Amino acid sequence: MRIDIVSLFPEFVAQIAGHGVVGRAQERGLIALQGWNPRDYAEGNYRRVDDRPFGGGPGMVMLIDPLRACIAAARAADPASAKVVYLSPQGAPLNQAKVRALADEPRLILLCGRYEGVDERLIAAEVDEELSIGDYVLSGGELAAAVVIDAVARLQDGALNDAESAAQDSFDADGGLLDCPHYTRPVEHELGTVPEVLMSGNHAEIARWRRQQALGRTWLRRPDLLDEAGLSKADRELLEA
Ligand code: SAM
Repeated sequence: MRIDIVSLFPEFVAQIAGHGVVGRAQERGLIALQGWNPRDYAEGNYRRVDDRPFGGGPGMVMLIDPLRACIAAARAADPASAKVVYLSPQGAPLNQAKVRALADEPRLILLCGRYEGVDERLIAAEVDEELSIGDYVLSGGELAAAVVIDAVARLQDGALNDAESAAQDSFDADGGLLDCPHYTRPVEHELGTVPEVLMSGNHAEIARWRRQQALGRTWLRRPDLLDEAGLSKADRELLEA
């Protein structure tokens, strides 16, 4: 998968690409990241990328032409057709189902806004989808792009080692529940003792306990997810036990 990032600060790409799962996915050839700076496509001595908003008011708005030329250059860098995603607080909320859909795309171009945002005409002409990472306002789209890249990279086949398998993770586990709690050594600690069932070696009992914990946590913390989960009769019994 290829991800191009259109940003006034494309060096941020090197930061996220150098670490952990995203770094490994790159090394393994599972994702390729490239940054593109609209300033490189701006005209004039000052290479201006923004201007004042029509109608007055505070802040600046990103100009159409440098962004358009930058997106065109990113598109032309690879023959596969690319979905253009504008990171925006006004976009659809990002969730794991959306991440899974994005992870199946051959190419993404992530457009990061700054200032008051991007001229609306550029969005109408070039953007396929607007995505928000939450109901708060960031000063730029780069952190939101990093969130998308990380979430999408770890779903590429071969990006995670077995120990980090995504199948048990919150939202990806059976029914889209939250994950169960996890423990490691030591068994006894001043902060508590590991639940006995996890040391029993009885895989069926362990699976049952984990499912019950996942159901209980989801019920307590995110009851909205249970409505979508399509619980089995056995799940309902575990939840009520
Ligand atoms: N005036 C815009 C509004 O109120 O909708 C906010 C602009 S914000 C200061 C600058 C840029 O940060 C946006 O163009 C967008 O790319 C990014 N951004 C801010 N909050 C975001 C969020 N919650 N999710 C994704 N991107 C966000």
